[in-house]
Amino acid sequence: MYTPVFIDELPDASTVSSRKSELYRLTRARGLTELLLDGTTPWHDRACPGCGQDRSQSGNFSQALIPFHRCSHCNTIYAAKVPAQAPLDALRARLQAERPEAHAEADAGSRQEFEFVSVLNWIRLTEARAATGRPLAQVLDYRFCSENPAWPGAVARLAQNRGWQFLPLAPDSEPLADLARTLRQSPPDAVLLNAELDRSADPRALLQTIRDHAPEGTLVFVATSCADGLEYEILGADSPSFVPLDRLNVFSVKGFEALARGLGYDCLEISTPGRLDAVILQRYFTEIESAAVPFWSGFFREADRDRLRDLQILLQRSLRSGVMRFVLKT
Ligand SMILES: [Zn+2]
Repeated sequence: MYTPVFIDELPDASTVSSRKSELYRLTRARGLTELLLDGTTPWHDRACPGCGQDRSQSGNFSQALIPFHRCSHCNTIYAAKVPAQAPLDALRARLQAERPEAHAEADAGSRQEFEFVSVLNWIRLTEARAATGRPLAQVLDYRFCSENPAWPGAVARLAQNRGWQFLPLAPDSEPLADLARTLRQSPPDAVLLNAELDRSADPRALLQTIRDHAPEGTLVFVATSCADGLEYEILGADSPSFVPLDRLNVFSVKGFEALARGLGYDCLEISTPGRLDAVILQRYFTEIESAAVPFWSGFFREADRDRLRDLQILLQRSLRSGVMRFVLKT
């Protein structure tokens, strides 16, 4: 198994957390509250979506809005009850339609461009390394295009000769049936699930659909939040990255690997290439002067950019950053 490290420049702290993201968090929380209160949305209780451990054996992570647990076996953080996928998709579509213009413009800034280039490089480098004997000529993007309207344009500019198919969020359809049909009718060489499993009511069903309907040897590129990240470790539910509606599943490396292998996937590559943990934590501890965590509050208040960068590299190397990537093979 390959576990690459991505040493990049650290972003500027001012781009990491801002009033815009506070507005985003509040809007997401309101949407989730409305789903809870509307009386018609079906919700169901569940076990750990990673290793399957019963939730009675897991500790509480957060009780705000809906209960979240932290699995004592695999460390995955998960909503202990989730709505059905259809009302969740309808809410996502509505929140996207309501997004103010300024928000969309701010989103199209350099951080997003960096993420796009990073995803395209990931596919290109994996293609060179994986030695599957065939190029990844056709990629199927599942829903990342809906979350990031600028993504298809970036693909057109930057993806060179690779063919792309976009399967956007379509709230009035049957998403897994649509996905299965697409996989059968125009089989891709690779499927991209970027930041999608975090929001899914049933990540197992999504991965199972791909496993059942994609040709053997298809690569699946999965990027999700990582519960093993230092930010969740230190700040827990106070972590700025914890937006419950967007984080119904925050898998750990161990939990996601158990899920993927249990479904019969090969895991070709695991990495935690996050760049933001150290910068987010420094911002947190400098903004909230009363926050006191042994060792870490002093470390982050005094750290210069070199020290932050060294820590970020250590986190990537030790699979402890807040973003993780898996390359799976069917
Ligand atoms: Zn678990």
